[in-house]
Amino acid sequence: MSSENKGTEGLRQLEYIKKLKNIVNEKKKELSRDLKYMVTTFGCQMNERDSEKLSGILRDAGFIRSESEEDADIIVYNTCTVRDNADQRVFGRLGVLKRLKDKNPSLLICLCGCMMQEDLIVEKVRKSYPHVDLIFGTHNNFKFAELLVNVYESGDKIIDIWKETDEIVEDLPSERKFKFKSGINIMFGCNNFCSYCIVPYVRGRERSRKSEDILSEIERLTYDGVKEVMLLGQNVNSYGRGLEEDITFSELLRRVCRIDGLERVRFMTSHPKDLSDELIEVMKNEEKICKHIHLPLQSGSDKVLSDMNRHYSKEKYLGIVKKLREAMPDIAITTDIIVGYPGETHEDVNETLDVIEVAQYEGAFTFEYSKRTGTPAASREDQVPEDVVKTEFDRVLKAVQNMAAKKAGRFTGRTLKVLVEGVNDRDPSMVTGRTEQNYVVHFKGDRSLVGSITEVELTECMGFYFLGRQIG
Ligand code: SF4
Repeated sequence: MSSENKGTEGLRQLEYIKKLKNIVNEKKKELSRDLKYMVTTFGCQMNERDSEKLSGILRDAGFIRSESEEDADIIVYNTCTVRDNADQRVFGRLGVLKRLKDKNPSLLICLCGCMMQEDLIVEKVRKSYPHVDLIFGTHNNFKFAELLVNVYESGDKIIDIWKETDEIVEDLPSERKFKFKSGINIMFGCNNFCSYCIVPYVRGRERSRKSEDILSEIERLTYDGVKEVMLLGQNVNSYGRGLEEDITFSELLRRVCRIDGLERVRFMTSHPKDLSDELIEVMKNEEKICKHIHLPLQSGSDKVLSDMNRHYSKEKYLGIVKKLREAMPDIAITTDIIVGYPGETHEDVNETLDVIEVAQYEGAFTFEYSKRTGTPAASREDQVPEDVVKTEFDRVLKAVQNMAAKKAGRFTGRTLKVLVEGVNDRDPSMVTGRTEQNYVVHFKGDRSLVGSITEVELTECMGFYFLGRQIG
């Protein structure tokens, strides 16, 4: 990409990466060794993608990736605040880092991500974890190099949190975890304000990237050997709103599918309220789009759905599932379910169980409701007692597990295309890959297959994964 095509902020940040590189070179000389970094991600695929960008900045500045915190000269925690236990994990690990900092005072400890958008959390870190050097948020993570330069040059601790932004900074470096697949942000933020969810408060209002920027990023990745992309957004179905160009998510998908060399396209997450018939048509007709959709249900009860501000009913949701299954009989539909939302009754959970039965999910993530301060649901007085949540959660979990095992069986004996992702962890004579439906398959093979798409007969269903045999 030529520098003419980069925005001003992008160019500024590239200058800071150069400055950081000079600082790193000086330090390397002083210490007579390389400087190492470790970035740890908590949370969702959006955070995974952000971490790749932070790692890319560090790599371009001359740091080398470390496999352990003990060896690192810079440690970054990219945090998540969707559930309380994620917050607690970060605080637990921060306590441990104090010991490392005592041993190596030049170690830099950086915190970023969704948790840092909450004032109370930042205040707690400031007071109780003074060994943290740099805190920044979700809206200004593109400034990572600049912030690090400031920390190194001033020797001060820096806290820089933005409440909002409408800026999207393109073309900064990124270190991809996999050579053959990559996540691509197509939009940031969320406008939906589901009543239990903290995301709109910490990720800000919805902003779509221009289609030309998305397409040229994917073209570059494909040139670089990427076969599969995952288009990422909190609600990809509303992609395009607010852009000057007139474009829907379905149209974006069509254009992405035209990119030569790209073989598979996935996307996440689809809000049911915005899922159009046009999208189902595109999924059906475009061969490159994987036949898998993650369609969060959250609850099967109309009362709870309305309380959650989800803007669809059980009937509407099941209508979408029906259309998807009719259009693509091989599709895998997965979902998220929350159990124990304030005011939820045994009968409400029965409604959820009914949806599981009718929708026939191939998989589901089931969560106990987690109270997030600042959301409307958190201030409700009818919170469900913990023991009741646990009992109801077990009912839902059992139902989704039984359904998933039953549904996987239908693919036994079929030959499907598998993208090989790596050598098997336990048996080096096997490789592991994924079908379009996102099923994991293990089969005999060697490292040379990694990154290729090959036909595999699924010989045995092991519940949630398959054993297979490469064909040809
Ligand atoms: S759509 Fe709802 S659940 Fe998803 S990020 Fe937005 S507010 Fe949260």
